[in-house]
Amino acid sequence: MNQQKQKIKNINQIVKKNILNLIPYQSARLLYKNNINNKILLNANESPIISLFSINNRILNRYPEQQPKKLLNAYSKYINLNNENILITRGADEGIDIIMRTFCEEHDKILFCPPTYDMYRVTANILNIKYLIIFSIKDNWKINFNKIKKNLKNIKIIYFCNPNNPTGNILNQNDIIKLLELTKNKTIIVIDEAYIEFCIDQTMIYFINKYENLIILRTLSKAFGLAGLRCGFILTNKYIINILLKVIAPYPISIPVLDVAIQALNKQNLIIMNNNVKTIINNKKWLIDKLNNCNCVKKIFTSTTNFILVKFNNSNNILNSLNKNNIIVRNQNHEKTLNNCLRITIGTFDECKKLYFILQKIS
Ligand SMILES: *Cc1c(COP(=O)(O)O)cnc(C)c1O
Repeated sequence: MNQQKQKIKNINQIVKKNILNLIPYQSARLLYKNNINNKILLNANESPIISLFSINNRILNRYPEQQPKKLLNAYSKYINLNNENILITRGADEGIDIIMRTFCEEHDKILFCPPTYDMYRVTANILNIKYLIIFSIKDNWKINFNKIKKNLKNIKIIYFCNPNNPTGNILNQNDIIKLLELTKNKTIIVIDEAYIEFCIDQTMIYFINKYENLIILRTLSKAFGLAGLRCGFILTNKYIINILLKVIAPYPISIPVLDVAIQALNKQNLIIMNNNVKTIINNKKWLIDKLNNCNCVKKIFTSTTNFILVKFNNSNNILNSLNKNNIIVRNQNHEKTLNNCLRITIGTFDECKKLYFILQKIS
């Protein structure tokens, strides 16, 4: 055995088994490492719209507050809930993690419904928490309510993504409410609302006062166009917030992040955000209309988000042609229910036109 191999073997003996065996999350940035300049990036559901904020507070010698009051105030005003119902996190991804670390004992399981956001699985794997998978019903992507209902034993947390990534659909609110009632005192239901600004009337945040087992996740990464900022929110009752405060790091939110997040939530920038959402939705309508006339497109799934899931006759061909033309989208072919599907983020109108132009040529 050469030195290198021996070294790796020694390290592997020390690492936790679940981490050694972990299939890591494949982020868009990881999957596409090439120079991203001059590329049309429709692979990470980011906003194509650039906003420019400045950092006001240059004094950084002191630690920030664990939960900076000014940002709590700003988000509280935006969503019309109290500060005590909000926990600021380093993106929604940290929210997913903190909730699992707070509620799951060794014998507990979490439940989620693929095809959905992969970080529920990855986080469970990292934390050595077991999970139960109940696939959503193919084609309309409704949750399999009856099967979930029959399998609630030992389930500590259910993660729903609403609207769902990568399918783009909204979940049936009555199904979720029925589950919230069924699982009181037993199971936490987490609703990941990363894309909710694209269909804000579907939010379930106001149910947190009614159901003590409901937790909502939010982020500034998608509609707000601040994926690079790393700022998200957990919304739930004040008792759960107080418990989560024991688990989150003592200083999770850096002062530059705080500065920018507060600006993003002021009245004027909220108007801009809402206009950007409308622009993206209009671009989406245009693109869907055009793609419906492309021979290579088999099906476009209904989407209430800033992306569309598209089934092609041969998605690998499409992926290659788009790649050659510097357009990067997200392959979903690995998911057994999503063969020949690609997830396409809605870009600027110009980007949508370029995409259509290429797909039309393939058809
Ligand atoms: C993008 C995304 C996240 C991650 O959000 P961050 O705030 O950037 O960590 C969480 N959930 C879903 C469903 C997402 O699509």
